[in-house]
Amino acid sequence: MNISRRGALKVAALGAVAATGVREAEARERPVPPEDATGMLYDSTLCIGCKACVAACRRANELTLERDSTLYDDSVDLTGHTANIIKLHQGDEGYAFVKQQCMHCVDPACASACMMGSFQKRENGIVTWVPDKCIGCRYCQIACPFDVPKFEWDSPLPRMVKCQMCLDKAGGQEPGQLRDGVDPACCEVCPREAVIYGDYEELKAEAQARLDANPERYNPRVYGLDDLGGTQVLYLAPAGVEFSDLGLPEYGPESVPHTPVGLQHKIYKGFVAPVALYAVLAGLTWRSRRQADAEAGQEVAT
Ligand code: SF4
Ligand code: SF4
Ligand code: SF4
Repeated sequence: MNISRRGALKVAALGAVAATGVREAEARERPVPPEDATGMLYDSTLCIGCKACVAACRRANELTLERDSTLYDDSVDLTGHTANIIKLHQGDEGYAFVKQQCMHCVDPACASACMMGSFQKRENGIVTWVPDKCIGCRYCQIACPFDVPKFEWDSPLPRMVKCQMCLDKAGGQEPGQLRDGVDPACCEVCPREAVIYGDYEELKAEAQARLDANPERYNPRVYGLDDLGGTQVLYLAPAGVEFSDLGLPEYGPESVPHTPVGLQHKIYKGFVAPVALYAVLAGLTWRSRRQADAEAGQEVAT
């Protein structure tokens, strides 16, 4: 059987990728939040939908309204103009508000998808966007299971807009660090303390304490403890309201980056898939070589 040098190189490269896939899958463990992780707890039963947090977030992030309205902040979805919105769910059991923003995933799909390393899991486990590295491919936007990062389409120097937990911009610290001793703007202004900022472990304990103290008030689950690999923004919902009603996906405990690695592991297990692929490639090469030889023979005969 003849196989070209280019074909041989291609097969060798495929083998190397396959081997890497196996090694990565074997090495990858489920990430956990760092020891000093911070986060947020949003309690939908306390939120009155005043949107003070939306306005404060816009100011803190130097974002402008998409419409020229001075009356009311009427954003209906996350866009390149807003990193934080409040939505209203109305169902048979009544209504509930929900705050939508970056979840600061424990195993962030945006950071996995970004080939330039522009999305990074940083100090305290906060996920940030580094402008200098971004080429605007928007893979992060496609990868995020919460549909969070948004591109600033109408800016000459566009950003990927998302919550960065109010990083310090005014100085006093290294640029891009968390604000020292100051809560994020949305938590600072909330008149009901419906959203609070703090140590991740303490927030987990606080969420559980609220469920234990008032079981009739709440959906009995804390969203984010296990969902999609865990998130550093946790949610409590009113009794009778499902998290999916609030737009929070119920995809189970595996993170998005963990799933393809697990899938690779299955595909490459026992090297069955690479060997099968090699056989198909070799078969195609042999068939095209035979066809070329037959055509050459016909030309000589005529
Ligand atoms: S932490 Fe800051 S950036 Fe994030 S939603 Fe709150 S105000 Fe906006
Ligand atoms: S919610 Fe989306 S943008 Fe935020 S950390 Fe998770 S994957 Fe990244
Ligand atoms: S400021 Fe607080 S109460 Fe008002 S909409 Fe935001 S989270 Fe809800």
